[in-house]
Amino acid sequence: MDQSYTCDVTHRFRRLRENDNLRNMVRENHLSINDLITPIFVVEGQNIKSSTEAMPEVYRYSLDRLHEELDELLQLGLHQVLLFGIPEQKDSVGSGAYDENGIVQKAIRYVKSYSPKFYVITDVCLCQYTDHGHCGILTDSGCVDNDPTLALLSKIAVSHVKSGADMVAPSDMMDGRIGAMRQSLDREGFTYIPIMSYAIKYHSSYYGPFRAIADSSPKQGSRSSYQMDFHNSKDVIDVAKASIDQGADLIMVKPAMMYLDILHELNGSINKPLVVYNVSGEYALLYQGIKSGFVNESIVYETMIGFKRAGAKLIITYFSKLIAEKWL
Ligand SMILES: [Zn+2]
Repeated sequence: MDQSYTCDVTHRFRRLRENDNLRNMVRENHLSINDLITPIFVVEGQNIKSSTEAMPEVYRYSLDRLHEELDELLQLGLHQVLLFGIPEQKDSVGSGAYDENGIVQKAIRYVKSYSPKFYVITDVCLCQYTDHGHCGILTDSGCVDNDPTLALLSKIAVSHVKSGADMVAPSDMMDGRIGAMRQSLDREGFTYIPIMSYAIKYHSSYYGPFRAIADSSPKQGSRSSYQMDFHNSKDVIDVAKASIDQGADLIMVKPAMMYLDILHELNGSINKPLVVYNVSGEYALLYQGIKSGFVNESIVYETMIGFKRAGAKLIITYFSKLIAEKWL
């Protein structure tokens, strides 16, 4: 075989990698500060900044200390936040979730007045607010009652938007919730408010640490009747399209790291921006790996690029501050 020809063939893969500038110029995927959404946990009470063992460096703030987090985010240029509330009182219908003076409603008003730079997305669900810890209200036999739950979820979404939320993100997984919410928002004149649907939310053990920090574990039973079964992937396009038909503007895949096949498939099939939630269990695993010294922290950046490569437009991650500090 002609030696020079062999050499040319070999180097055609290397030519674009030999030079640092060129390597950067031809990269298909980059991470930007605008790709990142930072979850924030707000809790009733005073002088609270507390974390949990499984999620070090992620804190629950009372409103009087929330400025500490907001200042840090502003300094780093991180303006997109996803708010979760932890109420003082819970009841069977999660009434704290739609209270005008509920913890999230107060937090939205606080964040928006703190700096207009913040784009506030709110988690819409009942599980942090119900005494049974399920994402909907229960029938007498203890099953989640889908249809009556829709009215409550819509009520929560409207109350968030009235407090100043820029986008709502229903995470409950009830059938028909996006349509019900869209109708309620439109009826109140909030036709411009987008809905980010937790459309593809798998029933997952990766949510464990979140339940501790948000105090949202189901007291009995599990969420397997309304979250998706991780053995399956064939129905994800239909499920996402159903959400879009009802009015979803963005589609979320959750968890992220083990679900890149799902993300990739959706990326080729639907025309809405895709969002991944790099969830608490993923955070805990990576965090502990880095702390123990077994892996380098650049593993976080590589993970984010993996999400981008698979089709994520936006990434919800507890690592946003580290990423902004180190790589952006
Ligand atoms: Zn929930």
